Amino acid sequence: MITTDELRAIPAFARLAPEAIDYLVRSVEDIHLVPGEYFAHEGDERALFIVIDGRAELTKVVNGEERVIGERVPGRFFGEVPMTLSTPFPASGRAAEPTRIIKLDVTVFYSLAAMAPSVPAFVASLARRYLDWLQTVAAEQAEPEVRVVAPRADRRAHELTGFLTRNQVAFEHVPVEPAGDGAQHPVVELPDGRRLENAGLREIAAAVGLEVEPSQRDYDVVILGAGPAGLTAAVNAAAEGLRTLVVEHLAPGGQAGTSTRIENYTGFPFGISGDELASRALKQARRLGAEIVVTRTAESLRPGGREIELDGGDVLRAPVVVVATGVEWRTLQVPGIDRFLGSGVYYGAARSDSAVARGAESPSWVPATRRDRPPSSSRASRGR
Ligand SMILES: Cc1cc2nc3c(=O)[nH]c(=O)nc-3n(C[C@H](O)[C@H](O)[C@H](O)COP(=O)(O)OP(=O)(O)OC[C@H]3O[C@@H](n4cnc5c(N)ncnc54)[C@H](O)[C@@H]3O)c2cc1C
Repeated sequence: MITTDELRAIPAFARLAPEAIDYLVRSVEDIHLVPGEYFAHEGDERALFIVIDGRAELTKVVNGEERVIGERVPGRFFGEVPMTLSTPFPASGRAAEPTRIIKLDVTVFYSLAAMAPSVPAFVASLARRYLDWLQTVAAEQAEPEVRVVAPRADRRAHELTGFLTRNQVAFEHVPVEPAGDGAQHPVVELPDGRRLENAGLREIAAAVGLEVEPSQRDYDVVILGAGPAGLTAAVNAAAEGLRTLVVEHLAPGGQAGTSTRIENYTGFPFGISGDELASRALKQARRLGAEIVVTRTAESLRPGGREIELDGGDVLRAPVVVVATGVEWRTLQVPGIDRFLGSGVYYGAARSDSAVARGAESPSWVPATRRDRPPSSSRASRGR
């Protein structure tokens, strides 16, 4: 439990009246963290944290990568911006070493503010100071290391950019005219100067540093599919110390990875996008020691030999196999439609698909007469 002396050692609390200090002693949460442990996540509901011992890091996901954007040493606050503006946390906080912090939730903060108006004034001044700096960080674009050169409405480019996005690989899409440069599209240009022309997803995945080969043959648990169910199983198996492998046909996230906003996942009071949910689950599973290979498909199970056969003939062994392969969508049964998948025919609209429609006001195939017509009233729409 935090003591009066420890609270008075925080400059902003040094001159508080005894009753305000007593209130804090009784009301704050005293939290001891191990290195890497988070005390706040981007998007969490507001609260105010003060570092007592150790060192905390502030992190923010920028272009799919978690970056350390600041640190807090003893006596420093975190949460002043959300507390002042009534917003969720714009960044996450974690311990960089064994760290002790105290937490004032909203009720405690406002009760203290009623007793000591100097405290909210001080917190607001901190917020003003950090806001400009946070805005700069948020607006900063990380230099993408991978370039995808391909026509914009190209089936393979659509598949590849969706794949890279969902695997959290930062890239730049450089649109070209179809066959304008004589290359076999899509072309992937890598930071080391290599160019992959019309390569398969597995080759590209390996080239950009994703795991595509299991490191062993024997595991305690093999999970098929890295959708929410598979990643949840991976987190729990790895947390128990089991040797855990996830085999994913395409990219982590499954169907949820294509959802722009999921409102009904417990623990996210403001909702969360599917790709963010998948990204967090993936990090959690990896941090706990799970291995995840992508672009690999489980072809068959042989329960007698406890074997799983992957595409290409690789055979894995595990006493426990979790099948979390989700669903396969029903597709339009129209002859020849496969040719237009990803270049005019789409089964959903993920955030990663927005580039396809960038700059377009309406699909080019809509007849001009219909495009030019003013929007119909909701009543007329219902009647159609
Ligand atoms: C656009 C959209 C929005 C949605 N919004 C919501 C929402 O707001 N709230 C909500 O509750 N639900 C929502 N859903 C539904 C939710 O996403 C699914 O219920 C959930 O993703 C199912 O999880 P899962 O892990 O069981 O399967 P999936 O998400 O289907 O994942 C299965 C994974 O297994 C992989 N796989 C398949 N076969 C193999 C194989 N043989 N070998 C290796 N890997 C394989 C697939 O590639 C896939 O990644 C939404 C779905 C979509 C498409």
